[in-house]
Amino acid sequence: MSFDLIIRNARLHRRNTLVDIAVTNGKFARIASDISESATREIDAVGRLVSPPFIDAHVHLDAVLTVGQPRYNTSGTLLEGIQIWSERKPSLTREDVKQRVLEEVRWEVAQGTLHIRSHVDVCDPALTALRALLEVREEVRDICDIQLVAFPQDGILSFPNGRELMRKAMELGCDIVGGIPHYEWTRDMGVEDVHYAFALAKEFNRDIDCHCDETDDPHSRFTEVMAADTIEQGWQGRVTASHCTAMHSYDNAYAFKLMRLLARAGMHVIANPFDNVVLQGRFDTYPKRRGITRVKELLAAGVNVALGHDSIMDPWFPLGRGDMLAAAQLALFLCHMSGYDEINDVLDLITTNAAKTLRISDRYGIDEDKPADFLVLDAPTAFEALRLLPARLHVFKQGREVASTIPARSNVKRQGDDEGGEVTYRIE
Ligand SMILES: [Zn+2]
Repeated sequence: MSFDLIIRNARLHRRNTLVDIAVTNGKFARIASDISESATREIDAVGRLVSPPFIDAHVHLDAVLTVGQPRYNTSGTLLEGIQIWSERKPSLTREDVKQRVLEEVRWEVAQGTLHIRSHVDVCDPALTALRALLEVREEVRDICDIQLVAFPQDGILSFPNGRELMRKAMELGCDIVGGIPHYEWTRDMGVEDVHYAFALAKEFNRDIDCHCDETDDPHSRFTEVMAADTIEQGWQGRVTASHCTAMHSYDNAYAFKLMRLLARAGMHVIANPFDNVVLQGRFDTYPKRRGITRVKELLAAGVNVALGHDSIMDPWFPLGRGDMLAAAQLALFLCHMSGYDEINDVLDLITTNAAKTLRISDRYGIDEDKPADFLVLDAPTAFEALRLLPARLHVFKQGREVASTIPARSNVKRQGDDEGGEVTYRIE
């Protein structure tokens, strides 16, 4: 018997011994310590880490690569970002959106991200970006799986016909219902924003992922409303609160009550380290808050946490190149997860935890009979991957290589040594 592909001497996360991984017909056929059969193609991983693909659980594809259009964000704030986006929105066209998104998806795939959950702003009577993204979702299926969230950037109740636009977005084929309760004009409207998202989710039998409490205001308390609705509506496991930056600023007594409630509701939380640290704390003098939600404490409380890139060269965050490993590294710094085990565990935030959030665990992971989606990193462990942000040497989707990278090599020459010596950034 012969296989299509064998990755030899692969190191799997949290497994000490090396394995061979055989792939046939786009699926993992066998994972064993020494596979004697041959394959059409063989790659020797030489002890490198082979990981399930990375997942970007929260991004705004409709806005990617628009930085500077029509102007740069000079204050760097969330509110100026929303203002600039509202100026850019009228010039959105199907071609403009598709061209930018197709390019950005290539960036993410090249770096090992094969699943993306994207919010798409539906506060546009023409729903131009949504229609374009629905086409992109189908067109990129060979390299990336995309989920689309109907996202009311300017509010469901605070924007003209907000409810109707949300409903229309679901009718057109959005996968997930969104919301933005903290941005509505009043507390009561915010509560109604959440209730409406749940009503729509029940009507269309969809999951929910709301931007929730994305502010430093410790009085912004809509995540608790989401949790209560989740329990009352029986939507456990299907609901995600994104950002939750206000949790950073809650007093501890309330924060721990809320975390227990989130665990009971089986809710997922998504943190977005780049945007959270750049956009929050803007009204502070010193000390300045980091803004990111309590990732470490949520995990300890039994809440599933995943990460998103959120913005890539857009009005809110001018930098970035769509690298989820870099997002994970930043979360590690910001959330004080630098203990040895914590560093290794951070990889879960962009892999298995995110798969639970996107509810794709049944077809995700390096297990026999699952789709052969994986990447080979130029590092031996998760710890080293998070330290080095190494090249993603090979990226496979359903057994087909969809991306490859040749790692950079550095050389240092001492005086009188014309050949020099390679720098590996490793202690052997
Ligand atoms: Zn967002």
